[in-house]
Amino acid sequence: MYRILVVEDERAINDLIVMNLTEAGYECERAFDGIEAADKLEGAGYDLVLLDIMLPGANGYELLDYIKPLGIPVIFITAKGSMADKVRGLRLGADDYLVKPFEIVELLARVEAVLRRAGKAQNEIEAADLRIDTRSHTVMRGSKPVQLTAKEFELLLLFVQNRGIALFRETIYERIWGGEYMGDSRTVDLHVQRLRKKLHWEDKIKTIYKVGYRLEI
Ligand code: CA
Repeated sequence: MYRILVVEDERAINDLIVMNLTEAGYECERAFDGIEAADKLEGAGYDLVLLDIMLPGANGYELLDYIKPLGIPVIFITAKGSMADKVRGLRLGADDYLVKPFEIVELLARVEAVLRRAGKAQNEIEAADLRIDTRSHTVMRGSKPVQLTAKEFELLLLFVQNRGIALFRETIYERIWGGEYMGDSRTVDLHVQRLRKKLHWEDKIKTIYKVGYRLEI
């Protein structure tokens, strides 16, 4: 069973997260400030930390410095939806972020995705008519391999790990290309179009007008 530390000083939100994660089969512990979190992290063997940014004691950014050397994946929880915070968090090494208020379904999807990416779940992912091997970077449709470039493979994984969730163009850009999205790049659109065609997923990767894309499988 995966063990998750939930670090969030707002008791109602902490309760809500723990209740839903427990219901989904995760074992949770909670901390309400930075100092308590650091204490609990000592040798406790967590698989994942959900980390609020604004905390008494030590803030989320400071705690991240402490958590990363332990090799535990981190999902930031932030009330601040600004791109600058998200980018700062991801640059500092967070694995993902959730912006409050969030839907429970999104929380569960991101937790599952980060655990999977961290290699804490199985290497083989089934998605619609495809079998994706995250270790060998191969994609199979039945017995036939689907040839993808490295970027297309990353893009496919990003979609599959966030299935059902709308992905902003800028999020996709930052994740796959690692730079700051300038708003005028057609790179994302071109790669999504190529991926759709190669996978025959024209009806599965939906365009969300003016926003980005969502995988519906
Ligand atoms: Ca807070």
